[in-house]
Amino acid sequence: MPLSRRLAGAVWGHLVGDAVGVPYEFLPAGAIRDVEFGARGSHHQPPGTWSDDGALMLALLDSLLEVGFDPEDQGRRAVAWRFDGAYAPGGNVFDIGTATRTALSAIRAGTPALEAGPDGERSQSNGSLMRILPIALWGEGRQDSRELARLAATASRVTHNHITCRAVCAVYTLLAEGLLQGQSREAVLPRALKVARDAFEADEPMLAAIDRLEHWPATHEPAGRGGALDAFWSAWTAFSGARDYRHTIERAIRYGNDTDTTAAIAGGLAGAHWGLDGIPGDWLAGMRDPEIVRPLVERLLAHRAVDAR
Ligand SMILES: [Mg+2]
Repeated sequence: MPLSRRLAGAVWGHLVGDAVGVPYEFLPAGAIRDVEFGARGSHHQPPGTWSDDGALMLALLDSLLEVGFDPEDQGRRAVAWRFDGAYAPGGNVFDIGTATRTALSAIRAGTPALEAGPDGERSQSNGSLMRILPIALWGEGRQDSRELARLAATASRVTHNHITCRAVCAVYTLLAEGLLQGQSREAVLPRALKVARDAFEADEPMLAAIDRLEHWPATHEPAGRGGALDAFWSAWTAFSGARDYRHTIERAIRYGNDTDTTAAIAGGLAGAHWGLDGIPGDWLAGMRDPEIVRPLVERLLAHRAVDAR
Protein backbone atom coordinates (compact mmCIF):
# COMPACT_ATOMS: atom_id res chain seq x y z
CA MET A 1 0.00 0.00 0.00
CA PRO A 2 1.38 3.46 -0.83
CA LEU A 3 2.54 5.46 2.17
CA SER A 4 0.18 8.28 1.16
CA ARG A 5 -2.86 6.03 1.80
CA ARG A 6 -1.55 5.07 5.21
CA LEU A 7 -0.83 8.70 6.18
CA ALA A 8 -4.22 9.98 5.04
CA GLY A 9 -5.85 6.91 6.58
CA ALA A 10 -4.26 7.61 9.96
CA VAL A 11 -5.43 11.25 10.05
CA TRP A 12 -8.97 10.45 8.94
CA GLY A 13 -9.07 7.22 10.92
CA HIS A 14 -8.38 9.15 14.10
CA LEU A 15 -10.97 11.84 13.33
CA VAL A 16 -13.68 9.41 12.24
CA GLY A 17 -13.12 7.26 15.34
CA ASP A 18 -13.47 10.36 17.52
CA ALA A 19 -16.63 11.46 15.70
CA VAL A 20 -18.29 8.03 15.86
CA GLY A 21 -17.44 7.81 19.56
CA VAL A 22 -18.64 11.27 20.66
CA PRO A 23 -22.34 10.36 21.06
CA TYR A 24 -21.46 7.36 23.26
CA GLU A 25 -19.07 9.14 25.67
CA PHE A 26 -19.77 8.44 29.38
CA LEU A 27 -22.07 5.45 28.67
CA PRO A 28 -21.25 2.24 30.54
CA ALA A 29 -20.12 -0.67 28.39
CA GLY A 30 -23.36 -2.61 28.82
CA ALA A 31 -25.46 0.28 27.53
CA ILE A 32 -23.92 0.24 24.03
CA ARG A 33 -25.38 -2.27 21.59
CA ASP A 34 -25.03 -1.23 17.97
CA VAL A 35 -22.42 1.39 17.07
CA GLU A 36 -23.72 3.72 14.39
CA PHE A 37 -22.21 6.72 12.65
CA GLY A 38 -24.05 9.92 13.49
CA ALA A 39 -25.94 8.63 16.51
CA ARG A 40 -27.34 11.38 18.73
CA GLY A 41 -26.33 11.20 22.35
CA SER A 42 -23.74 12.76 24.63
CA HIS A 43 -22.73 16.34 23.70
CA HIS A 44 -25.67 16.75 21.23
CA GLN A 45 -23.35 17.37 18.28
CA PRO A 46 -24.27 17.00 14.58
CA PRO A 47 -23.09 13.76 12.91
CA GLY A 48 -19.42 13.70 11.95
CA THR A 49 -18.22 16.09 14.66
CA TRP A 50 -14.80 15.32 16.08
CA SER A 51 -13.99 16.60 19.58
CA ASP A 52 -10.93 17.69 21.56
CA ASP A 53 -9.03 14.56 20.53
CA GLY A 54 -9.30 15.32 16.82
CA ALA A 55 -8.81 19.07 17.16
CA LEU A 56 -5.68 18.77 19.29
CA MET A 57 -4.29 16.10 16.95
CA LEU A 58 -4.78 18.50 14.01
CA ALA A 59 -3.22 21.34 16.01
CA LEU A 60 -0.07 19.28 16.59
CA LEU A 61 0.03 18.21 12.94
CA ASP A 62 -0.28 21.81 11.79
CA SER A 63 2.53 22.87 14.13
CA LEU A 64 4.92 20.15 12.98
CA LEU A 65 4.27 20.91 9.31
CA GLU A 66 4.60 24.66 9.81
CA VAL A 67 7.61 25.02 12.10
CA GLY A 68 8.98 21.52 12.81
CA PHE A 69 9.24 20.29 16.39
CA ASP A 70 8.67 23.28 18.68
CA PRO A 71 6.73 22.72 21.94
CA GLU A 72 6.05 26.45 22.34
CA ASP A 73 4.34 26.53 18.96
CA GLN A 74 2.48 23.29 19.83
CA GLY A 75 1.22 25.02 22.96
CA ARG A 76 0.12 28.13 21.08
CA ARG A 77 -1.92 26.12 18.59
CA ALA A 78 -3.55 24.09 21.37
CA VAL A 79 -4.44 27.37 23.08
CA ALA A 80 -5.97 28.57 19.79
CA TRP A 81 -8.24 25.52 19.86
CA ARG A 82 -9.21 25.95 23.52
CA PHE A 83 -9.97 29.66 23.43
CA ASP A 84 -10.75 30.40 19.75
CA GLY A 85 -12.17 27.12 18.42
CA ALA A 86 -9.35 26.53 15.91
CA TYR A 87 -9.26 23.04 14.33
CA ALA A 88 -12.80 22.31 15.58
CA PRO A 89 -15.91 21.71 13.42
CA GLY A 90 -17.99 24.84 13.57
CA GLY A 91 -15.36 26.41 15.83
CA ASN A 92 -17.17 24.74 18.72
CA VAL A 93 -15.20 23.49 21.76
CA PHE A 94 -17.38 21.10 23.78
CA ASP A 95 -15.08 18.52 25.39
CA ILE A 96 -11.89 19.03 27.42
CA GLY A 97 -9.96 17.10 30.06
CA THR A 98 -8.82 18.45 33.40
CA ALA A 99 -5.06 18.36 32.80
CA THR A 100 -5.43 19.91 29.34
CA ARG A 101 -7.64 22.69 30.73
CA THR A 102 -5.06 23.44 33.45
CA ALA A 103 -2.10 23.34 31.07
CA LEU A 104 -3.60 25.50 28.33
CA SER A 105 -4.71 28.16 30.81
CA ALA A 106 -1.15 28.19 32.18
CA ILE A 107 0.33 28.55 28.68
CA ARG A 108 -2.02 31.41 27.90
CA ALA A 109 -0.89 33.07 31.14
CA GLY A 110 2.77 32.78 30.06
CA THR A 111 4.01 29.47 31.48
CA PRO A 112 6.61 27.82 29.20
CA ALA A 113 4.94 24.97 27.29
CA LEU A 114 7.25 22.25 28.62
CA GLU A 115 6.36 23.24 32.19
CA ALA A 116 2.63 23.58 31.58
CA GLY A 117 1.41 19.98 31.83
CA PRO A 118 0.51 18.76 35.35
CA ASP A 119 2.59 15.85 36.65
CA GLY A 120 0.67 14.79 39.77
CA GLU A 121 -0.57 11.28 40.49
CA ARG A 122 -4.07 12.29 39.40
CA SER A 123 -2.85 13.55 36.03
CA GLN A 124 -2.03 10.19 34.42
CA SER A 125 -4.80 10.60 31.87
CA ASN A 126 -5.12 9.95 28.16
CA GLY A 127 -5.13 13.58 26.99
CA SER A 128 -1.67 13.61 25.43
CA LEU A 129 -1.94 10.08 24.02
CA MET A 130 -5.08 11.10 22.14
CA ARG A 131 -3.27 13.84 20.19
CA ILE A 132 0.28 12.43 19.75
CA LEU A 133 -0.24 10.59 16.42
CA PRO A 134 1.23 13.36 14.19
CA ILE A 135 4.70 12.85 15.67
CA ALA A 136 4.76 9.53 13.79
CA LEU A 137 3.07 10.89 10.65
CA TRP A 138 5.55 13.74 10.40
CA GLY A 139 8.69 11.96 11.55
CA GLU A 140 8.46 8.38 10.30
CA GLY A 141 11.25 7.73 7.82
CA ARG A 142 12.87 11.09 8.59
CA GLN A 143 13.77 10.76 12.26
CA ASP A 144 15.58 7.89 13.94
CA SER A 145 12.98 5.73 15.74
CA ARG A 146 14.51 6.36 19.15
CA GLU A 147 14.50 10.10 18.54
CA LEU A 148 10.86 9.86 17.48
CA ALA A 149 10.04 8.21 20.82
CA ARG A 150 11.85 10.96 22.72
CA LEU A 151 10.10 13.71 20.75
CA ALA A 152 6.72 12.12 21.52
CA ALA A 153 7.53 12.01 25.24
CA THR A 154 8.55 15.68 25.11
CA ALA A 155 5.42 16.72 23.20
CA SER A 156 3.30 15.03 25.89
CA ARG A 157 4.63 17.53 28.46
CA VAL A 158 2.74 20.43 26.90
CA THR A 159 -0.44 19.08 28.52
CA HIS A 160 0.61 15.91 30.39
CA ASN A 161 3.96 15.85 32.16
CA HIS A 162 3.43 12.68 34.21
CA ILE A 163 5.97 10.03 33.30
CA THR A 164 3.23 7.48 32.59
CA CYS A 165 1.78 9.78 29.93
CA ARG A 166 5.19 10.46 28.41
CA ALA A 167 6.01 6.74 28.22
CA VAL A 168 2.65 5.86 26.67
CA CYS A 169 3.05 8.59 24.03
CA ALA A 170 6.50 7.25 23.12
CA VAL A 171 5.31 3.65 22.70
CA TYR A 172 2.15 4.64 20.79
CA THR A 173 4.20 6.76 18.39
CA LEU A 174 6.45 3.78 17.70
CA LEU A 175 3.37 1.61 17.04
CA ALA A 176 2.12 4.12 14.50
CA GLU A 177 5.58 4.40 12.94
CA GLY A 178 5.76 0.61 12.51
CA LEU A 179 2.29 0.41 10.98
CA LEU A 180 3.12 3.20 8.51
CA GLN A 181 6.10 1.10 7.48
CA GLY A 182 3.83 -1.86 6.83
CA GLN A 183 4.88 -3.93 9.85
CA SER A 184 2.40 -6.57 10.98
CA ARG A 185 0.16 -6.15 14.03
CA GLU A 186 1.98 -9.07 15.64
CA ALA A 187 5.37 -7.41 15.20
CA VAL A 188 4.73 -3.76 16.04
CA LEU A 189 4.08 -3.96 19.78
CA PRO A 190 7.16 -5.97 20.84
CA ARG A 191 9.27 -3.82 18.55
CA ALA A 192 7.82 -0.58 19.95
CA LEU A 193 8.56 -1.66 23.52
CA LYS A 194 12.12 -2.62 22.60
CA VAL A 195 12.84 0.60 20.72
CA ALA A 196 11.31 2.67 23.54
CA ARG A 197 13.65 0.99 26.04
CA ASP A 198 16.60 1.71 23.73
CA ALA A 199 15.49 5.34 23.44
CA PHE A 200 15.47 5.84 27.20
CA GLU A 201 18.25 3.43 28.13
CA ALA A 202 19.83 5.70 30.75
CA ASP A 203 16.53 6.95 32.18
CA GLU A 204 15.50 4.62 35.01
CA PRO A 205 12.14 6.27 35.77
CA MET A 206 11.15 6.05 32.08
CA LEU A 207 12.23 2.41 31.90
CA ALA A 208 10.10 1.72 34.97
CA ALA A 209 7.15 3.49 33.34
CA ILE A 210 7.57 1.38 30.19
CA ASP A 211 7.61 -1.74 32.41
CA ARG A 212 4.35 -0.63 34.06
CA LEU A 213 2.83 -0.07 30.62
CA GLU A 214 3.89 -3.50 29.36
CA HIS A 215 2.63 -5.35 32.43
CA TRP A 216 -0.65 -3.44 32.94
CA PRO A 217 -2.81 -6.14 31.26
CA ALA A 218 -1.57 -8.76 33.74
CA THR A 219 -3.62 -7.10 36.48
CA HIS A 220 -6.23 -5.03 34.60
CA GLU A 221 -8.97 -5.44 32.04
CA PRO A 222 -9.28 -2.74 29.35
CA ALA A 223 -12.32 -0.61 30.24
CA GLY A 224 -12.07 2.43 27.97
CA ARG A 225 -11.58 4.79 30.88
CA GLY A 226 -9.58 8.02 30.94
CA GLY A 227 -6.34 6.70 32.44
CA ALA A 228 -3.46 6.68 29.96
CA LEU A 229 -2.67 2.99 30.48
CA ASP A 230 -6.30 1.88 30.18
CA ALA A 231 -6.72 4.04 27.06
CA PHE A 232 -3.60 2.60 25.47
CA TRP A 233 -4.57 -1.01 26.11
CA SER A 234 -8.24 -0.55 25.26
CA ALA A 235 -7.29 1.02 21.93
CA TRP A 236 -4.60 -1.55 21.22
CA THR A 237 -6.86 -4.48 22.11
CA ALA A 238 -9.71 -3.09 19.99
CA PHE A 239 -7.38 -2.69 17.02
CA SER A 240 -5.22 -5.79 17.34
CA GLY A 241 -8.22 -8.13 17.50
CA ALA A 242 -10.33 -6.47 14.81
CA ARG A 243 -11.20 -7.66 11.31
CA ASP A 244 -11.03 -4.20 9.77
CA TYR A 245 -11.31 -0.46 10.49
CA ARG A 246 -15.05 -0.49 11.22
CA HIS A 247 -14.68 -3.43 13.58
CA THR A 248 -11.85 -1.62 15.39
CA ILE A 249 -14.07 1.40 16.07
CA GLU A 250 -17.03 -0.75 17.15
CA ARG A 251 -14.83 -2.68 19.58
CA ALA A 252 -13.25 0.52 20.95
CA ILE A 253 -16.62 2.17 21.57
CA ARG A 254 -18.17 -0.92 23.18
CA TYR A 255 -15.80 -0.52 26.12
CA GLY A 256 -17.96 2.48 27.02
CA ASN A 257 -16.77 5.44 29.12
CA ASP A 258 -14.23 7.58 27.19
CA THR A 259 -15.49 6.20 23.88
CA ASP A 260 -14.42 9.00 21.56
CA THR A 261 -10.86 8.99 22.87
CA THR A 262 -10.48 5.20 22.79
CA ALA A 263 -11.85 5.16 19.25
CA ALA A 264 -9.62 8.05 18.12
CA ILE A 265 -6.48 6.37 19.50
CA ALA A 266 -7.45 3.02 17.97
CA GLY A 267 -8.67 4.66 14.77
CA GLY A 268 -5.31 6.30 14.12
CA LEU A 269 -3.61 2.91 14.26
CA ALA A 270 -6.32 1.22 12.18
CA GLY A 271 -6.13 3.97 9.57
CA ALA A 272 -2.36 3.59 9.29
CA HIS A 273 -2.75 -0.20 8.98
CA TRP A 274 -5.68 -0.52 6.56
CA GLY A 275 -5.23 2.86 4.85
CA LEU A 276 -7.74 5.48 3.78
CA ASP A 277 -9.65 2.95 1.66
CA GLY A 278 -10.31 0.85 4.76
CA ILE A 279 -12.52 3.54 6.32
CA PRO A 280 -16.21 3.09 5.40
CA GLY A 281 -17.03 5.56 2.64
CA ASP A 282 -20.28 6.71 4.20
CA TRP A 283 -18.48 7.49 7.47
CA LEU A 284 -15.85 9.55 5.65
CA ALA A 285 -18.47 11.32 3.54
CA GLY A 286 -20.44 12.21 6.67
CA MET A 287 -17.63 14.08 8.40
CA ARG A 288 -18.23 17.75 9.18
CA ASP A 289 -15.95 20.51 7.94
CA PRO A 290 -13.59 18.39 5.80
CA GLU A 291 -12.09 21.67 4.55
CA ILE A 292 -10.28 21.90 7.91
CA VAL A 293 -8.63 18.54 7.33
CA ARG A 294 -7.90 18.35 3.59
CA PRO A 295 -5.24 21.10 3.45
CA LEU A 296 -3.45 19.53 6.40
CA VAL A 297 -3.42 16.10 4.75
CA GLU A 298 -2.17 17.66 1.50
CA ARG A 299 0.63 19.45 3.36
CA LEU A 300 1.52 16.22 5.18
CA LEU A 301 1.78 14.31 1.90
CA ALA A 302 3.84 17.08 0.32
CA HIS A 303 6.13 17.19 3.32
CA ARG A 304 6.69 13.43 3.20
CA ALA A 305 7.10 13.25 -0.58
CA VAL A 306 9.72 15.96 -0.53
CA ASP A 307 11.72 14.54 2.29
CA ALA A 308 11.21 10.81 2.03
CA ARG A 309 10.09 8.41 -0.64
MG1 LIG B 1 -13.12 13.96 23.18
